[in-house]
Amino acid sequence: MNDYCSFYIDGKWVRTTEGKDHTVINPANEEPIATTLLGSAADVDKAICAAKKAFDSFSETSVSERQALLHRIVDIYQARREEMAKAISLEMGAPISLCRKAQVPAGLAHLAEAARALGSFNFEEAKGSTLMRKEPIGVCGLITPWNWPMNQIACKVAPALAAGCTMILKPSEFAALSANLFAEILDEAKVPPGVFNLINGDSTAGAALASHPDIAMISFTGSTRAGVAVAIAAAPSVKRVTQELGGKSANIILDDADFLKAVREGVQACFRNAGQSCNAPTRMLVPRNRMEETALAAKQEAEATNVGDPGREDTTVGPLVNRRQFERVQQFISEGIKEGATLVVGGTGRPRGIEKGYFVMPTVFTDVNNRMTIAQEEIFGPVLCIIPYDDEDEAVAVANDSPYGLAAFVSSRNLQHARRVANRLRAGNVHINNARVDFSACFGGYKQSGNGREWGEAGIAEFLELKAVLGYAEV
Ligand code: NAD
Repeated sequence: MNDYCSFYIDGKWVRTTEGKDHTVINPANEEPIATTLLGSAADVDKAICAAKKAFDSFSETSVSERQALLHRIVDIYQARREEMAKAISLEMGAPISLCRKAQVPAGLAHLAEAARALGSFNFEEAKGSTLMRKEPIGVCGLITPWNWPMNQIACKVAPALAAGCTMILKPSEFAALSANLFAEILDEAKVPPGVFNLINGDSTAGAALASHPDIAMISFTGSTRAGVAVAIAAAPSVKRVTQELGGKSANIILDDADFLKAVREGVQACFRNAGQSCNAPTRMLVPRNRMEETALAAKQEAEATNVGDPGREDTTVGPLVNRRQFERVQQFISEGIKEGATLVVGGTGRPRGIEKGYFVMPTVFTDVNNRMTIAQEEIFGPVLCIIPYDDEDEAVAVANDSPYGLAAFVSSRNLQHARRVANRLRAGNVHINNARVDFSACFGGYKQSGNGREWGEAGIAEFLELKAVLGYAEV
């Protein structure tokens, strides 16, 4: 079994005896694959000391030095992409093809985008005789989840480096393999000692970061539950907290859409990564009189998914990340049946022929009422709710009737029509006709999906303080 019991602090791999052991389980066969340490508050403290020491010089580096650093990281990340794809697939069960095509490239895209955006970023602006100056905020704590591990880590580390901040990354305890590899890449790219530090751990290390007085900002991605806990722990020290939290995204398919194409793409997007994406379109809204054809197309699409060993090239849906998620999703499926939604395909239990691993049957419910638990709560598994609507106003109202507001989707052959509806949706990202992800656009949520924006230029801005220097210009 592999040993991941060192932390990366001040440019060195450091062994500590204080943390508790944690066994990483392969979700496809429930076998142990690695041991990591769960860092303590004392480990977090050591990493913060290193980051504080490094801040003075790193915050003074030039834009071109930081761009060069990001480019070195990009090159090494590129060279190690296959290793990264295998680590992600093993630790959290995403199919290897998805890791190669999306999980790993997402990390790369954030690194490259931060380098590009930094080149044209405006750090200073004159307002009369006053200079408005953007400065790195300080030592940052970055707390990330396991579901898109490199996407999450890179979309925090890259802009933090671009801004000139120093940092402590605390990745999810369920995705320590990819995080360790990322730290090796940064080490190989010669990130100056103390600028980037890695502490593995769970909520103990996360809470220690959130409450620490020497941390200027916490950038958190994860559940709304943990995001709230982080904000509460951070409040007494008045630090900045950005939160990227859960979602329950609506997918409005308008009557004038390329209808069956939109349904099929919507089902695929919902099941991608076994439904473990914060922005997955999990509530599909269709005209009431088209429910029957929607159900049929969704069933066919669900039956065409290839659930199984994530190491196989042709697998499209792997297992869920761990037993807790597996049981939670089973519970939600039972709840949907109990609440009276129509189960079109899937259901409780593992797919036929699979006896081990946290595999769930891709499941579609129709005739879902938006008040049902399965329509309101984030399930985080391959479970699609199809909700009928009578007119467009109702569709928009149902889409917005959610505590979340991360993403939304709208399909129509008439672009003007889709745009009008998009503008009425209370979500941070709206995709027209399933438009692909744009790494230069901002990413983040309304309502309980979070605070703040990541990615591209907006992501860099989050790691900066704005200072007004009055009397700067000669008058
Ligand atoms: P989680 O909230 O359980 O854990 C996320 C991270 O927070 C982990 O590193 C965990 O160790 C840490 N943590 C947990 N409790 C903490 C506490 N009290 N104090 C400090 N740190 C704590 O979430 P998860 O299961 O890892 O990830 C799934 C969740 O993440 C889903 O709700 C999903 O929607 C959300 N997510 C959101 C986005 C987004 O950009 N909005 C992206 C990906 C995932």
